[in-house]
Amino acid sequence: MNQEKFYDYLQKQILLLVGWSLLTGLGFVSLCYIQDVLYPANLWYGAMVVVSLWGWHLYRQFRYKHVDIHQLESWYQKVRLFMYVIFGLWTIIFILYVEKNEHNMHLVVIFTQIGASVIASSFLFSDKKLVVPIVLLLMYPLMIYFLSVQEAYAYFASAFAVIFLGLLLYSSHNSNALIQQIYYQAQHDSLTGLYNRRYFIDYLDQMLYAFKKNNKFAYILLIDLDHFKTINDSLGHDIGDKLLLEVSNRIKEYCEKSHLIARIGGDEFMIVSYEFDTIEECAHSAESFSKTIGQLLKSTYIIDYNHLHISASMGIKFIDKSTKKTNQVMKEVDIAMYEAKAEGRDGTVHFNKALAQQVNNELEIERKLYFALKENEITLNYQAQVNEKEEIIGCEVLVRWHNKVLGFVSPVEFIAIAEKTGIILELGNYIVEESFKTLKYWEEEITQLEQFSINISVRQLLDESFVNHITHLCERYLTVNMRQKVIFEITETLLAEDFEYIVKTIKEVKKLGIRFSMDDFGTGYSSLSYLREMPIDELKIDRAFVNRLGESNSDEMMIKTIFTLAKIFDLSVVAEGVETGDQFRFLIDHECHIFQGYYFAKPMKKGDFEILLLKEKSRKLKQNTI
Ligand code: C2E
Ligand code: MG
Ligand code: MG
Repeated sequence: MNQEKFYDYLQKQILLLVGWSLLTGLGFVSLCYIQDVLYPANLWYGAMVVVSLWGWHLYRQFRYKHVDIHQLESWYQKVRLFMYVIFGLWTIIFILYVEKNEHNMHLVVIFTQIGASVIASSFLFSDKKLVVPIVLLLMYPLMIYFLSVQEAYAYFASAFAVIFLGLLLYSSHNSNALIQQIYYQAQHDSLTGLYNRRYFIDYLDQMLYAFKKNNKFAYILLIDLDHFKTINDSLGHDIGDKLLLEVSNRIKEYCEKSHLIARIGGDEFMIVSYEFDTIEECAHSAESFSKTIGQLLKSTYIIDYNHLHISASMGIKFIDKSTKKTNQVMKEVDIAMYEAKAEGRDGTVHFNKALAQQVNNELEIERKLYFALKENEITLNYQAQVNEKEEIIGCEVLVRWHNKVLGFVSPVEFIAIAEKTGIILELGNYIVEESFKTLKYWEEEITQLEQFSINISVRQLLDESFVNHITHLCERYLTVNMRQKVIFEITETLLAEDFEYIVKTIKEVKKLGIRFSMDDFGTGYSSLSYLREMPIDELKIDRAFVNRLGESNSDEMMIKTIFTLAKIFDLSVVAEGVETGDQFRFLIDHECHIFQGYYFAKPMKKGDFEILLLKEKSRKLKQNTI
């Protein structure tokens, strides 16, 4: 049984026992008074009152928790002694009065002794160590008395007493087994047998309380398996369960004796270390511990003939006397784990002040982003895309957010937060609608571009209403010809999720005439099978590769490979982030046809971009007339 619950239960029994003993005892003493055999019952009752006061004191003592584990243990020893004493008193009164046949007092004490045995076995069944000796203490004198009478009926009664004793012990044993099982289930995870979240929180509560006094340190490690969902979805839940079991066995084998391990969710495990005297020791141990666990979990799993590989992202948080709340600890170690995921998974991150600050900033951004649309803080910028002759053939729409307090916030920062919180759906819809309006206006009033790229988050693609919404906007703003100029840019980093659903959505949207581009190509899960199955029309080489041109051979090789791939899959290529003439020439030499970057134009406001378009238009007109 959970210790706290066990003590809690025991505490209630003290009160019940005291109440029962005082009342029944008073009844007994009154009877003795009537029968004129008050002595020694009055002395006995005096003792009972004293013992009851002691019991009341013990009851109150437990109320003033939190107490640490050692204090609890000493309290428990006292309660055990109290139980022996109070039931011992009942045995004493039995011995004192069982011989008083003249007033039939022996019948009364036989009755109270049997009653006490029943009460002991039903009140104390949760504590096996207590119930057996106490029931024996109560029933033995009874049996011996019956034997001492030396008459046939008494031998029978003695035999009945033995059977009764057996039944009492048997039923209390059964109740104990049942309650143990219920408590085991309430505290353990049914799949792995590890502790569950509830128990873990209780344990941590106690630990934090103890730390307030003892100046010790410990660490908490949160393990989350990487891409476990993919295994579950592709190989089935049976294999997923077996993998979790194997993971938990590996953790158990490594550290069960020295750490407390819990499975707190699907593929999340939490481990709390033993106590350290110094933070240095604690940090050192946490470092090597997380490394070893990471390695252990990475080695191949063979499950039903499948060879599986899985890594883990881990968060670590140190706890000491300054750590206040359990839920805060859980939250912070979670933040650290998510940071490990964000850093590319398969690693460990320690929670620290900088991370806390980062989280606060994100929260601040999240709160303000919520009102950004209503407050008209969101605008769109346009960055030119040019051909080999540096003529503008298209543009990319880039969102901008200026907040009164935060100033300009980079889309890299707020788009990620918008994706996490779901605000991206509303924001994305706004961006697409505004972009369509702009495209329509330009087509009708300014100039005819060849392509018009809009960034789309994968969260939008996963939204059920996306296709309907885009269809509606197309019908409202764009002619069939204009729709063919629209390119939706998606990033490949997120494509691992729900690949099939995304492909289905893309195919639906393509029916409208809209094309798709793979943004930041080369940085995510660039696999050949992705390219084959993704119905895309364009690749955008990530600006990191373009930037390092001339610096590293491998980046040049990478870019050449991308061009070859594009040819094989019949895709057009846009080189993004072109900043120098050398980069531009290298790309032209490798048959790149569309370019984007500061070398040609920075992202600019709608009005500025329109001026650029008009200038270009009049330049072309002049060239044509010459
Ligand atoms: P992206 O789609 O790859 O956009 C290109 C980014 O590269 C833009 O940054 C652009 O300003 C920058 N860039 C262009 N040329 C150069 C160059 O020559 N040198 C350098 N150093 N940078 C260049 P920005 O505007 O900060 O956008 C960053 C990312 O934010 C975008 O990357 C895109 O993933 C996301 N984003 C921007 N606007 C939107 C949007 O409307 N919707 C969604 N879902 N995401 C957006
Ligand atoms: Mg883009
Ligand atoms: Mg890009």
